Amino acid sequence: MSTIAENISTLAERIRSAAQAVQRDPASVGLLAVSKTKPASDLREAYDAGLRDFGENYLQEALGKQAELIDLPLIWHFIGPIQSNKTRAIAENFAWVHSVDRLKIAQRLSEQRPPELPPLNICIQVNVSGETSKSGCSPEDLPALAQAISALPNLKLRGLMAIPEPTDDRDEQNASFAAVSTLQAQMGLPLDTLSMGMSHDLEAAIAQGATWVRIGTALFGARNYGQP
Ligand SMILES: *Cc1c(COP(=O)(O)O)cnc(C)c1O
Repeated sequence: MSTIAENISTLAERIRSAAQAVQRDPASVGLLAVSKTKPASDLREAYDAGLRDFGENYLQEALGKQAELIDLPLIWHFIGPIQSNKTRAIAENFAWVHSVDRLKIAQRLSEQRPPELPPLNICIQVNVSGETSKSGCSPEDLPALAQAISALPNLKLRGLMAIPEPTDDRDEQNASFAAVSTLQAQMGLPLDTLSMGMSHDLEAAIAQGATWVRIGTALFGARNYGQP
């Protein structure tokens, strides 16, 4: 087995045992492969080992890999910060966007989503770590933003995404993810998605209701920043 295939089976086991610990169906937790900085050949290996959903942070890098992997039926998720001038390409080339945190971006994605494609699946990124995090909508602004986004055509609001401040303290991890779950429940909208949990904290995220865990390092190894 390749290292990536081994990592995927280790992750499947982590997800299974985290779900079972809280009486959840492991199949209710999706594994989103976060492939930023990784070559298309690594994504192909992950595909061969059964993964279909891939998350990318940088548009140009993602478009390059999409072209290289055009022969595979992959589902592409955009998970990075979004500048206004990138919305058209995102609307045209992704099935999901996890990192919407303001209405202007959502409006542009809705206007620019090609009519022949299904609605773009949207998660609102919420900031539950206060001043320590730059991106994400504040919990105070979330209800109005969610209402406005759910009224837009060509988008389907699915739920929330969060990247809490990293910590090894399981109680702190639980508290952050529980805050996201509670915000989602309070919104009173028909939402089915909580995108939360990364390599180091997926167990706590699953305990608090994650439906996508976004995994990079534990799947592909350390990232290749700074290499040509
Ligand atoms: C890089 C990244 C991840 C993956 O993080 P790991 O700790 O490597 O698993 C998940 N979500 C987002 C938004 C990221 O940018």
